[in-house]
Amino acid sequence: MSVFFAFLEVNEMLVTSVYQLVGQTPLLELPAPNESRIYAKLEMFNPGGSIKDRLGLALVRGALEAGVINRQTTIIEPTAGNTGIGLALAASKYQLRLILVVPAGFSQEKQVLMKALGAELVLSDPALGMQGALAKSRQLASQIANSYVFNQFENVANPKAYRLLAKEIKQDLGKLTPTAFVAGAGTGGTFAGTLQELRQVYPDIKGIVVQPAGSILSGGVAHQHKTEGIGVEIEPPFFKDLGIDGIATISDEAAFKQVRQAASKWGLLIGSSSGAALQASLELAAKLPARSKIVTIFPDSSERYLSKNIYNF
Ligand code: PMP
Repeated sequence: MSVFFAFLEVNEMLVTSVYQLVGQTPLLELPAPNESRIYAKLEMFNPGGSIKDRLGLALVRGALEAGVINRQTTIIEPTAGNTGIGLALAASKYQLRLILVVPAGFSQEKQVLMKALGAELVLSDPALGMQGALAKSRQLASQIANSYVFNQFENVANPKAYRLLAKEIKQDLGKLTPTAFVAGAGTGGTFAGTLQELRQVYPDIKGIVVQPAGSILSGGVAHQHKTEGIGVEIEPPFFKDLGIDGIATISDEAAFKQVRQAASKWGLLIGSSSGAALQASLELAAKLPARSKIVTIFPDSSERYLSKNIYNF
């Protein structure tokens, strides 16, 4: 986008580093049942391709500024992938050593991107889930001098990083008042941080957390699922005192069906957790009064899951 300022042409999109491109993602209006509307924050437009670029930069910048880590620190973190890519982006900005512990079996695309950005990868036992990856991270940290584990599952800097996302949503919505906020939870950081901030401006907004079938929050027996990035293994500490208005449990089949439909109907390439969020938003729209406004988040793109046959589920 160019504007003319006096005799100079100033290019508003000229940036001097990709790190400046984290955040300020678009909000897309989509149709829903009952003449309602869904407003989806398109987080795949971050430079690392997901919502977790925001967290990676916030964690590293915050810890450097607070003196918790220094330029010689080795960062170690358990991640399903997107936080790893976000952290790798941040580590490349500050030239820090980064070791990511990923349960084997998560998408190859994410692993390749983490390595491309300079991170070292350690695979953990998938049967032990993210808690196994956390235990492995702590074990590595005990062996490596001047190392630090952020632990996104308990670090309050995680939800805090999403306050800004909520402020962007508020700005994007302008005069519109949202009825509900629907979003997935892995660590719960995105959901808790965004909802808390949205409630400052919209006190009546309902917060609905999206979980895959097989999450401990969904009732029934916890089991593996194909929807990546969401599904809590322990009750997130960020949910304590938050006051959640509902849990939407979405099957892998329903999430992947929305992924395919979003591509064919709207030219929209979304990952499986976005598909789950879309399904939950559509289901909610069918239950809410006419002309409701549902805010949701699409955390990443389907390109990250092509090797997982996201379009041939
Ligand atoms: N969707 C995807 C694709 C993710 O990678 C994540 C992060 N694990 C989430 C949703 C959920 O984010 P959070 O950890 O903040 O709950």
